[in-house]
Amino acid sequence: MAKPNKLYSVLFNKCPRCGEGDFFITKSAYNLKNFDKMNKHCPNCGENLVPEPGFYQGALYMSYAFYVAFMVIYFLIFVNVFPNYLDYFLASIIPILIILTPYFYRLARRSWLALFITPESKKTAS
Ligand SMILES: [Zn+2]
Repeated sequence: MAKPNKLYSVLFNKCPRCGEGDFFITKSAYNLKNFDKMNKHCPNCGENLVPEPGFYQGALYMSYAFYVAFMVIYFLIFVNVFPNYLDYFLASIIPILIILTPYFYRLARRSWLALFITPESKKTAS
């Protein structure tokens, strides 16, 4: 693979350090039994994916930001494309947010950790 990239590892469930090992154990956010199970260490480079207890409480702020951004974008699309159907916006926003919950949960955790970890190729030595 090419050199690690934060955006890539956040979007594709990879370790933010090496971009190779998986972050969550399942590929799918919709595996209801295991969607929230993480590897504690990167299976490829051994990076500690749970730096301290409670580390991922900060991911709440990331998921909050994702929800707000999503709702604003969704609303703007509705207002501009379907201005006569705003009832559908109200009727659809809650189910859509519920469906997106596992996805945003995982996205939030990956992006939160990625804020604190530099991809390997940018490091000089360690
Ligand atoms: Zn790794």
